[in-house]
Amino acid sequence: MTRKGLSPDAPTCRRGPDGVSEPWGKIDTVSPEPASPPAQRVEPETAIPSESLRDEYEALADEVRRHRTLYYNQDAPEISDAEYDVLFRQLEEFEALHPEMIANDSPTQEVGGEATAAFAPVEHLARMYSLEDVFSVSELEAWIRRAEANVAALGLVPAKWLTELKIDGLAVNLLYRNGELVRAATRGDGRTGEDVTHNVLTIKDVPQRLSGEGHPEEVEIRGEVYIPTKAFIEYNEALIERGKAPLANPRNAAAGSLRQKDPGETAKRPLKMFVHGIGAREGLTATSQAETYDLLKAWGLPTSPYYEVLETYEEVLAFIERYGQKRHSLIHEIDGIVVKADDFATQRALGHTSRVPRWAVAFKYPPEEVHTKLLDILVNVGRTGRVTPFGVMEPVKVAGSTVSMATLHNQDVVKAKGVMIGDIVVLRKAGDVIPEIVGPVLALRDQQDPPVRDFVMPTVCPSCGTQLAPSKEGEVDIRCPNARSCPSQLRERVFHLAGRGAFDIEALGWEAAIALTSGPGPDPATIGGYPRPEGPGVLDGEAQIFELAADWPDSNLRDRLADVAVWREKRVKGVGTGQWDLVPYFWTKPTARKPSVPTASTEKLFAEVQKAKTQPLWRVLVALSIRHVGPTASRALATRYGSMTALREVLATENAREQLADVDGVGPIIADALIEWFAEDWHREIVARWASAGVKMEDEQDASVGRSLEGLTVVVTGSLERFSRDEAKEAIIIRGGKASGSVSKKTDYVVAGENAGSKLDKAEQYGVPILDEDAFRRLLENGPGEWRPAAGEQPESGPEDDGGAAPPEQLAAEIGEAESDGDER
Ligand SMILES: [Zn+2]
Repeated sequence: MTRKGLSPDAPTCRRGPDGVSEPWGKIDTVSPEPASPPAQRVEPETAIPSESLRDEYEALADEVRRHRTLYYNQDAPEISDAEYDVLFRQLEEFEALHPEMIANDSPTQEVGGEATAAFAPVEHLARMYSLEDVFSVSELEAWIRRAEANVAALGLVPAKWLTELKIDGLAVNLLYRNGELVRAATRGDGRTGEDVTHNVLTIKDVPQRLSGEGHPEEVEIRGEVYIPTKAFIEYNEALIERGKAPLANPRNAAAGSLRQKDPGETAKRPLKMFVHGIGAREGLTATSQAETYDLLKAWGLPTSPYYEVLETYEEVLAFIERYGQKRHSLIHEIDGIVVKADDFATQRALGHTSRVPRWAVAFKYPPEEVHTKLLDILVNVGRTGRVTPFGVMEPVKVAGSTVSMATLHNQDVVKAKGVMIGDIVVLRKAGDVIPEIVGPVLALRDQQDPPVRDFVMPTVCPSCGTQLAPSKEGEVDIRCPNARSCPSQLRERVFHLAGRGAFDIEALGWEAAIALTSGPGPDPATIGGYPRPEGPGVLDGEAQIFELAADWPDSNLRDRLADVAVWREKRVKGVGTGQWDLVPYFWTKPTARKPSVPTASTEKLFAEVQKAKTQPLWRVLVALSIRHVGPTASRALATRYGSMTALREVLATENAREQLADVDGVGPIIADALIEWFAEDWHREIVARWASAGVKMEDEQDASVGRSLEGLTVVVTGSLERFSRDEAKEAIIIRGGKASGSVSKKTDYVVAGENAGSKLDKAEQYGVPILDEDAFRRLLENGPGEWRPAAGEQPESGPEDDGGAAPPEQLAAEIGEAESDGDER
């Protein structure tokens, strides 16, 4: 997240799965279990494998299978790609030594990924092969030399090598008939994949109809669906804001997105695609890979700008080195480089093995790991009080940025990783994004001075001194129960309420939140060279936050900011000296000529706090740090109730839980969280003080908006000109309608915009009235009276005299059932 006031080296605050802050750390969904220990290296043996050898082989194959299932079918890998590759290679090596043992169902005999039951299986017209991987430039050189020798032996012209980036995404096969996209499928096992047409249709890069001319009667176009790195990071932040677990890496995010049962959900994911191959082809004229790319581009398909046709191994090597240096500044993550014989005649002549083509190879970059010293393990107390240990390290550059901290999740993970304070540790970036401490370098442990020591989880809160406790019986996570005044929890809540998804107070970033909520702490020079703010700050609680605004009458909070100071390292020519000064944070340093005044960013802070008072209700609800109540639930609540008063009235009723849970987008868990939160006196005091400081707490109701869609279910598909998807949904909901994500027999209307896909077909199939954007606008203005359900007809403009008529009774009676997301495949 981009927040001002954060120095480049400063920790970025990331939030963990339950909305808990995990500053400075990894937040992936990978289980903390250590990878299984590498299997023993196998020595050649006699022809008949012994029982123990067979057991060993089966165990290894099972292990690979298990991780492959976790990866491809459940999108929940437990080990990194590099670790999986090591396992897979062990299996291959084993099989090379004992070819007699190769099982038919060995993972090496398949192409990775099996179809799952959730999506209809489809057979590819031409098989989708995976690529042979090589893990070093010497292996790559050997591969290319061998291929060149084969080409020469076959009497062909020397091969040219089309060299391109290996996108860290999900392989997808698009089938176009006469220029029309008829099917999209995942690779699956290479022969049979899953039908993901509906979901692929939501990807803007993928044309439903090819442009240009000369489309073959039938052509399979292969490519990679991916999430751009930047969008991936933002998407994860949004997930975390909603209290959901972030995704492990862009590839898993892409895979998970394509496997949504509701294409509406897929449409929300920032998916992109690059095409890079052709399967079955009927009447295609191109004779080489490069020519094909030109053709695909001319047809409006997204081709990667990152490829070159090269002639020698040396040129390929230079390409690898060049992209190795800038792999983290590309728009998507890559895990290697693909080298393909460019000429189709050469491709055909070289052919395939049972698994992989002989005319292409994937070079994989080594995982980027570095060594650094683990200076200390400290704990952070998050927004909900969860205590999270994190490692403080000597700053080191890894995968493109300087890292000095990484989360260690909880004490069990510290134990499992086996790291001790003072160890030299292996550090890498998980998914090339989030820093992760892999483990200690044991060989160096004895040489450390001072000697290494164990991490001991504190029993009292390092921030407020309260006795820590498990939040629930038997839980690993422990929490500080002092929610109200623990400075650490307050700091996290203050940072959260200023966030982009809440009050959006840009001048109140992480550093300012620290400065407001804690004292400067001891001189960093005396505690290992990093600041450790502690003790209470000037802000007594988030209830007080609007007293920072310019027109607050009887508060001296603004003036007290003059005394707030933080530690800053003295620098000489940009280099730290190890000496620290206490400097004012919100006010300028006084000089002989100029007395101390609020800094420019402090003035900005005052103005932004003032402005935040008029934010819409949903942002106020997000700002309250109610568990599970992120932007989505808050919008739903705000749309339904319109004001804090109306929401409180519902909370005061006996069946509050049922009423709240019934709101589209809320549900029972959030209903409980709301009831629990508002039961606390000090929570209600925050709302009261914000209200009396002038925070609006209600949305302006447009009086002209009636409940014209009461009881109607409307599905919006495709893109509209004057409404974003969210705006269209909101327009339906505030008129009392239900905005559903999928078409069923119970749908009253389908609004079809540009590029509407399968939902349109479904609407036709069920005879659901289809509206274009103008008709939708009239429906919103005038209600259904204007539009009698008669499929396929455009509505006349001008209201009919029975305006506002209810939909057919039988339809109305069916409304209120659960959204029929399950219907659609
Ligand atoms: Zn505490």
